Amino acid sequence: MMARPHVMVVPYPAQGHVIPLMELSLILVKEGIKITFVNTKENHDRMKSAVPCGDDSLLSQICPVGISDGMESSEERKRPGKSSGAVLKVMPEKVEELIECINGSESEKITCVLADQSIGWALDVAEKKGIRRAAFCPASAAQLVLGFSISKFIDTGIIDNDGTPLEKQVIQLSPTMPRVSTEKLVWVCVGNKTTQSHIFQLMVKNIESMKKTEWLLCNSSHELESAAFSMAPEIIPIGPLLSCNQLGHSAGNFWPQDLTCLKWLDQQPPNSVIYVAFGSFTKFSPSQFQELRLALELSNRPFLWVVQPEESKIAYPEGFVERVVERGRVVGWSPQKKILSHSSVACFISHCGWNSTLESVSNGIPVLCWPYFADQFLNKSYVCDVWKVGLGLEPNESGMMTEGEIRSKIQQILNDEELKSRARDLKKKIQIGTAQGGLSNKNLDSFINWIKS
Ligand code: UDP
Repeated sequence: MMARPHVMVVPYPAQGHVIPLMELSLILVKEGIKITFVNTKENHDRMKSAVPCGDDSLLSQICPVGISDGMESSEERKRPGKSSGAVLKVMPEKVEELIECINGSESEKITCVLADQSIGWALDVAEKKGIRRAAFCPASAAQLVLGFSISKFIDTGIIDNDGTPLEKQVIQLSPTMPRVSTEKLVWVCVGNKTTQSHIFQLMVKNIESMKKTEWLLCNSSHELESAAFSMAPEIIPIGPLLSCNQLGHSAGNFWPQDLTCLKWLDQQPPNSVIYVAFGSFTKFSPSQFQELRLALELSNRPFLWVVQPEESKIAYPEGFVERVVERGRVVGWSPQKKILSHSSVACFISHCGWNSTLESVSNGIPVLCWPYFADQFLNKSYVCDVWKVGLGLEPNESGMMTEGEIRSKIQQILNDEELKSRARDLKKKIQIGTAQGGLSNKNLDSFINWIKS
């Protein structure tokens, strides 16, 4: 029997990075390609305990491996800059050892390394070992293009050599690209000065590693980001990768999904539910949490709200649960892709992580944008300014999204027929790209053929 092509997949250790690379891995497995999926030990264990046994036959064909990131505890991982530091220091060696071990003992040797573009070292290790490689970007192409423009930004005095903006201004690379303020550039709006500089230098380094790959894949589509793809034709769109929607499994999740809310959704009127979720990182202050809680309570509409267990320690006022029990549901972690494709959902209050944004627009769901950090501000600009399928929530002078603001924007978005119609049109366009013969679909086929060649 001929040995199968064997791809080692290395995601960045965060939920929003693991899910789309798991999606891509499942597609490759279906094509008869062997997959070794490398996680940090912590994420490997989380994923294992989150997926019910026997949940999925395709998933069981993926070979998961957990390697140490060299950190003692989850607390240590949460410290700013700590996690990315460890990913840089300890993991490259471990991945190299793993490649040596597999290629020294197994008949199906690793023929390709497919790594998240934000961990360029995995691509460097592959190059050192003489293995073919592909980079994968789980964020927008526009975000990558901003990264590619760093030297231009330095030359034109927009930022200094450390990535710090010299003055506050809005950057828009072309009229059909999203806008971003210099103070919201991805490396500027994370952590303290040291973390920012560290992330900036890492981005510059990763861009160098990306140049040495045969493929730079992006979880996006021409229909969504044509301007970005014409500015950087080396970025190949293969998305949105939402196949699990159809196959119905929950691969790659770090927490068990509360599936009972799907039954609850079935009982709600069509187009009525406000879905509220902020991805895997976002944390609220207690007072901000209460403003949102009040807005949902007073909106008098059905809502489904994801509150991660850590946050649910924030107390609900007496009587809240009883008052909203008929029309409100709070869950710890939802089957989000299934929710956003459910006909009862009317709009999504979202932090605008790229995966959430893709999942929303692919289903024609209008977005009420509440970005926090990283690339979320850029994604918000896509939603509100470029595709015009959502509205932005505006903070008051103390940076708070008030109950009044949230309620009034919910009202506004649900009454905006033109916006909703644009959201439905965008959904159709995206489907063309991923259907047989569409651009994303063709690119994915070419990539698969390359792996098999
Ligand atoms: N997600 C989920 N259940 C939840 C919340 C989020 O399955 O209750 C998934 C969501 O569908 C998306 C990912 O987690 O695929 C979050 O990625 P995103 O880029 O939106 O945000 P991040 O967590 O990276 O900030």
